[in-house]
This record gives sequence, structure tokens and C-alpha cells, in this order.
Amino acid sequence: MENRNTKNIEEDYKRVWANCLDVIKDSLGPENQKAFDTWFVPIVPLQLDGSTLLVQVPSPFFYEWIEEHYIDLLKRVIRLQLGPNGMLKYSIVMDQTIPSDPIKTTLASNSRRSVQNPLTDMPININKENARELPNPFVIPGLKKDRIPSQLSPTYTLENFVEGECNRLARSAGYAVAEKPGQTAFNPLLLHSNVGLGKTHLANAIGLKTKELHPEKTVLYVTSEQFMQQYAQAGRDNNVNDFIHFYEMVDVLIVDDIQFWSGRGQKTQEAFFHIFNYLHQRNCQIIITSDKAPGELQGLEPRLLSRLKWGLNADLQAPDVETRKAILRQKLQNDGIEMSDEVIEYIAYNINTNVRELEGALISLIAQSSLNRKQITLELTKQMIDKYVQSSTREITIDYIQKVVCDSLNLPVENIQMTSRKREIVQARQLSMYFAKKITKSSLAVIGMQCGNKDHATVLHACKTIENLRQTDRYIRNLVDELEKKFKEA
Ligand code: ADP
Ligand code: MG
Repeated sequence: MENRNTKNIEEDYKRVWANCLDVIKDSLGPENQKAFDTWFVPIVPLQLDGSTLLVQVPSPFFYEWIEEHYIDLLKRVIRLQLGPNGMLKYSIVMDQTIPSDPIKTTLASNSRRSVQNPLTDMPININKENARELPNPFVIPGLKKDRIPSQLSPTYTLENFVEGECNRLARSAGYAVAEKPGQTAFNPLLLHSNVGLGKTHLANAIGLKTKELHPEKTVLYVTSEQFMQQYAQAGRDNNVNDFIHFYEMVDVLIVDDIQFWSGRGQKTQEAFFHIFNYLHQRNCQIIITSDKAPGELQGLEPRLLSRLKWGLNADLQAPDVETRKAILRQKLQNDGIEMSDEVIEYIAYNINTNVRELEGALISLIAQSSLNRKQITLELTKQMIDKYVQSSTREITIDYIQKVVCDSLNLPVENIQMTSRKREIVQARQLSMYFAKKITKSSLAVIGMQCGNKDHATVLHACKTIENLRQTDRYIRNLVDELEKKFKEA
């Protein structure tokens, strides 16, 4: 008899909570499925004592969250199930960490504290004095989801991310992601490139665009280093659970420079792996940047690495000279500064390593001219850029060669790409090919492709022609010598 009663009671609390869940799910509706999964599914019923239901919640943060957001709903469903005296009592798991975390062993795992329920007209709160710190790693008191600061920079927008062949795929994938975060095949979206080619800018821009198109979405930008530090801090404060819960509330998570975790932060990576899975399952968007392609990301957890390959992997290449010019023009326009085309071209042709250096050169030039109250002339630019370039690595590119050749022939550089058989254009093309072969490490095929889309045989022929003319034609000899000198000086 007694046995049956115990069993009944045991089943009662589960049944009561299952009924509550049904009502809660109904009340929240399908549009709040995510909230339901996040905040109600993890609650475990423990015991029914008269008309008081005891449930377990994973952390103090969790408790505060549901109390703040769902108190009325809970009140309603509990009273529906247990009558007007129905009460809810919480048992809070204080120190549970994610599985396999080493700090678990040093903690009294599953230590709990009970909080008497808030289902009276004067709800009892956890005494804030004693409550542990709210877990928002970004330190906003009284965390609310809509108040999670995105940490996005307002200056790195999609509008001022200049489009070029070098970034077309990444940029348009980024736009698609911002339009439909979590709903495209680009999840995660992994952006990779060498340094200074716009990963941070683009990732940030996608975040801003998402917020613009979907103001209700929570977007969070974090560097992998910051994430790692926060995780370590959460470990020290025994609130890894809260840390993870915090990240699980985000709709669009951007983690910048994930290569930082290579060969370190194994526990951080594990935590991120959990968060990744959680978000991915719920169709939340994940954007990751790395200065290496996934195949080269050594020392990253294999499980995490395989996840990174799930979505779209888009690289950013170094911009070509036209894109470099467009970037310079855009920066100048933003700053309201005017510069002549020849100055812009000189910078664009001479700085080809990455966009950060391009910007750096521009800023130094502007600073120089305003400090010395000098006009930004081509002369000043040359002095400045030549100094600037010496200190970084300088490489003569095919673009640059074409430009110098065309300048000395007084031809617009675009002519090189024309199919024209006009003598001077053919000559400019041949000279460009000749010097490209001499100076750059590019293959004949690449040189041909960049000089008017010709094949390698044409390049070879051009080199022979110039070599011959050099012996026989005084004009060409002078021209070649003069150009040679220019390239040596460069
Ligand atoms: P990464 O994160 O790849 O090292 P950043 O995103 O920090 O590079 O970019 C370096 C600088 O170059 C930034 O100031 C950024 O605004 C600028 N930049 C890079 N690509 C572009 C682009 N396509 N259009 C405009 N600015 C760019
Ligand atoms: Mg960056």
C-alpha cells in the first residue's frame, strides 16, 4: 500500500511537470520554440510535496532569467496544475561544469541550494547581496537578452567594404547570411585570409547588417582571445555553466581569429564546441574568421575542425590594383580628403601587400602633409611611399610593370587588356611580358593571363621579340634600358 503511494507520488511530480510543459509550450507558441528549448526543457522536476513542486534548474543565472521573464506564465501553469495554493520551489545546481572539465573534481559537484518560490504575490528573489555575480562576461548589470552589447564596431560596415574579385564570394555570402542568419547553407561561415585583408572588417559588417535587417536578433562579436579569457575567468569563479548559457542565448555569434586557439586552450575549445553545437542545432548563425584555411589550422580540436568544414569556407585574397584604388578612394571620401588621381595610383601600384598597409601608407602621407603643411604632391608621395615601402617587403607585380611601361609610352594602362593589334599597344604588352618574366616569379601562363589573356607561347614569343629588337632597334634599346633603371630603383 505504502509502496504504491510512493510510486504514485514519484510519478505525480513528473506528470505535473509534463503537464506544465505542455501548457508552457502552447502558450509560448512555435515562434518561441527556441526560448522553450533553452529555458524550460532543461528544468528537471524533483519532487512534489503537497501542492509544492520542486524543480531543479542548472544555475543561478538560469533561475534569475526565468524568474525575470516567465514568472507570470509559471504562476499560471502551476496554479492550473496544483490549485490556488500551488507553489514552485527551485533547487539550483550551483557548481556544475561542463563534462570533463578538470575543475569539476575540485568542486563539490551538484551542490545545491534551494530557493523558496516566487509564486506568491511577493515573489522571493535570491538575495542579490549573496547571489553570485551575474554571468554576463561583458559586465552589464541586470542582463537582459536585448541588452547584450554586440561589441560591433560601427565603422566596419558592408557599405564601406569595397568589393573586388578578391572578396566577391566572401562578401556576397556575408550578405546572404545577414539577410537570413542561420537559414542558409553558409553555417558556419568561415572567413579566412592572410592578415590585413579584411576578415575582421567583413565579419563585423555582417554583424551590423544582420542587426539592421533583424533588429530583434542578438548579435555578438567576440575575439577568440576574449572568449578564452572569459572562459578561464568563469572557471575561476565556478560559473562555467553560466558562461555557456550566456553564449547560448546569442542568435548570431562571431568569433574572430580562431587560429589563436591553435595548440592551446583545449578546454576553451571544448566549451566552444558545446556552444557551437547548441547554436547550430537551433539554426543560429556562427561566423568564424581565421588567418589559416581549415586544412592548415593545426592544433585545433579535430571535432571542432570538422564542424568548421560544415558550412562555407570563403577566402579573401589580396586586392588587385583596381580594388586597391577603389579602397583608397573610399577611405579618402570617408575622411573628406581630396587627392589627385596620380597620387592615388602611385600608392595603389606601390603598396600591394595588404589593405592594412595600404591604409597605413595613406594615413602616414596625410599626417606628413598636414604636419609639414605641404600639399600632397606626387613628389611628396614618392618620397614618403618609398620610405614606407622599404621598411615593409616590396614586391614588383605584373600590375606595377604594366603601369610603368604604359606610363613611359603615354598609354592608358587599360589598353594592355584590349584585343587591339595596334602597334604601340602590342609593344606595351610585349614589354610588360618581357619585364614580368625577368622580374617576377610568375609563370608564363600567369603572365599571359594578366597581360590581355594570352597563352604562354605568346609570352615566350614576346620575350624573344623584345630581346631581338633590343639588338637591332635603337628606340627599343633606349626604352628597355630606361625601364630597367626604373624597376631597379623601385
Ligand atoms: P584582417 O582581420 O584580415 O587582418 P582587417 O579586417 O582588420 O583585416 O582589415 C585591415 C584594414 O583594411 C581595416 O582597416 C579594413 O577596414 C581595411 N579593409 C580590408 N579590406 C577592405 C575592403 N575590401 N574595403 C575597405 N576596407 C578594407
Ligand atoms: Mg582581424
